[in-house]
Amino acid sequence: MRIDVLGVGFDNLTHQEAVAKAMGFLEGNKACTVVTPNPEIVEICRENPEAMAVINGADMVLADGIGVVKGAAMLKTPLKGRVPGIEFAAGLMSQLAKEGKSLYLLGGKPNVADLAGKKLQETYPELRIAGTADGYFKDNDAVAEAIASSGADVVFVCLGAPKQEFWMAQYGAATGAKLLCGLGGSLDVFAG
Ligand code: UDP
Repeated sequence: MRIDVLGVGFDNLTHQEAVAKAMGFLEGNKACTVVTPNPEIVEICRENPEAMAVINGADMVLADGIGVVKGAAMLKTPLKGRVPGIEFAAGLMSQLAKEGKSLYLLGGKPNVADLAGKKLQETYPELRIAGTADGYFKDNDAVAEAIASSGADVVFVCLGAPKQEFWMAQYGAATGAKLLCGLGGSLDVFAG
């Protein structure tokens, strides 16, 4: 059961539970999606029913930011806590590294994903980076195909919200990945 905050349903999970659930998705046979809405994105969803539908249609919806947690508390349906996308990504990468799973980085300005990949490789030496691509492409099918031929288990899709959520819903299956995470500006952070 999800906790409703102004129409967006959030999974009531701690950071560790969220990472464990995401790792579980890798054992399945479909392309699962994770989204991490903050209050601004909840606001976008209230104005854009298609964005609302695609976000609520994700396999895991995490509360990115204290604003969402406070909202849930005010509505008397408290969440266990916030699970910021960037922290979720870090926890997930530790596990991916341990289990030898591979990660594709998609998004950001030219070279950002590449640089993020290099930095992440230093932080998580065992992490397998399957490939990287910037987020200013025109040919969606070609990008999905490139990810598919990289054999990536997981894709971080960092195109900003709600673009990344629409992209994951439309092209996720074609990437062949088991897990796609919409993580906004995270690659800019990882690139330093
Ligand atoms: N971005 C992209 N392709 C686009 C639009 C944006 O790759 O067509 C990237 C942009 O370079 C930035 C990220 O998406 O790295 C959006 O970051 P922002 O912090 O604005 O998004 P939020 O985290 O608020 O969703």
